[in-house]
Amino acid sequence: MATKLPSPPRVGMVSLGCPKALVDSERILTKLRANGYDMSPDYAGADVVLVNTCGFLDSAKEESLEAIGEAIAENGKVVVTGCMGKEADVIRARFPEVLAITGPQQYEEVVGAVLEAAPPVANPYVDLVPEAGLKLTPRHYSYLKISEGCNHRCSFCIIPSIRGDLASRRPDAILREAEKLVAAGTKELLVISQDTSAYGVDIRHQPREWKGHEVRAHMTDLARELGMLKTPEGETPWVRLHYVYPYPHVDQVIPLMAEGLVLPYLDIPFQHASPKVLKSMKRPANEAKVLERIRNWRSICPDMAIRSSFVVGFPGEMDEDFEYLLSWLEEAQLDRVGAFRFEPVEGAAANALPDHVPDEVKEERYQRVMDLTARISAEKLAAKVGKTIDVLIDRVDEVAPADEGPDRGHFDAPHPEHHHDVGATGRSKADAPEIDGEVHLRDAAGLKPGDFVKVLVEESDEHDLFGVAV
Ligand code: SF4
Repeated sequence: MATKLPSPPRVGMVSLGCPKALVDSERILTKLRANGYDMSPDYAGADVVLVNTCGFLDSAKEESLEAIGEAIAENGKVVVTGCMGKEADVIRARFPEVLAITGPQQYEEVVGAVLEAAPPVANPYVDLVPEAGLKLTPRHYSYLKISEGCNHRCSFCIIPSIRGDLASRRPDAILREAEKLVAAGTKELLVISQDTSAYGVDIRHQPREWKGHEVRAHMTDLARELGMLKTPEGETPWVRLHYVYPYPHVDQVIPLMAEGLVLPYLDIPFQHASPKVLKSMKRPANEAKVLERIRNWRSICPDMAIRSSFVVGFPGEMDEDFEYLLSWLEEAQLDRVGAFRFEPVEGAAANALPDHVPDEVKEERYQRVMDLTARISAEKLAAKVGKTIDVLIDRVDEVAPADEGPDRGHFDAPHPEHHHDVGATGRSKADAPEIDGEVHLRDAAGLKPGDFVKVLVEESDEHDLFGVAV
């Protein structure tokens, strides 16, 4: 049985006015699509109706007001935008029930009003950021979306059919957003997209002017520019790259990591290692020499952490494919690994492939991948004990009453000497929020979220490190 997907909210659009207004409507719809909305051709099927108005002539204004009235009568939930939005008082006087009014080209505001009126439904199969991440993103780290959609057609994936082909943002717009985020307190930028290495392919890497020079719409150029931003305190924010496919040009980003402009961290969703399974998955950049390239990257940047995810039990995965994956993992020594049991998602081409793997076999393979990768992770973390690493603080515990130590996990559970300790939790350069491990600190009084600190690592386990600020 294929997994049923939650249905996205639907937006109805009434677009009035000149070609400029039409372009505005298209941009708004594009942004709404990127946020997971569907379009409704009629009032009845819409969760909210957007009226893009024209205010050029009195007759156009009247037409706009009539359209608003009709949308309210037919649907009830109406957001108004466009040229007549400048006359919000006139609209409010006649239709006090209008949910929000924004002016022309106020795309973010319109999208914000729709998000509020009909919140999008979380869909784990297409959302880039974990649901918990969206709710918890604190001020000191921010996701930076550089493109939407994808040009590939991996057989297990429904993203291209929902989000469309790759649509890259302009590099100057991304950099402006990043600069604002950093000025407002962001210490870590998490670059996300469906396929970060393909950034700019659709717009032919067209350069744009940024601070007196040209920046191409290309992952390497963008990464370098992001790495040159400075926080108000003069610190270099962390720049972390997610969803990078190992195309040849990824090699150009590794020197930026060695220079400290980009975190020595690559999130590459390999999904499998067996050439046969990768072929049937239709994975991009599926080439045989990945292990050699990983070795090469590590020789340039020895501290590099690689995170990846793998699917076990893909249709047609035989014992020998799975054994291949295990020995590949042993050799690749990845730092962080997530594993998933194959699940047929409604609409995915892979569902029609022959030789589906029985659930108990999937489960056993999943356990074996988890055991192997947990061992590798534990060994890699143990090698950090005694070293001093950079940590970004995420949380600092409340000061605990003297007789009730807070539950802070095994490290700073009540201990005669540490009884009044304030603990803190942060992440090293090797840990992305929500998906990787953490660094737990003792004696952390005085620290606050967003602080960069040097930490002496004292202990480790399978996923986390434990230490003290030095
Ligand atoms: S690369 Fe493949 S898995 Fe990733 S979004 Fe594109 S089609 Fe889906």
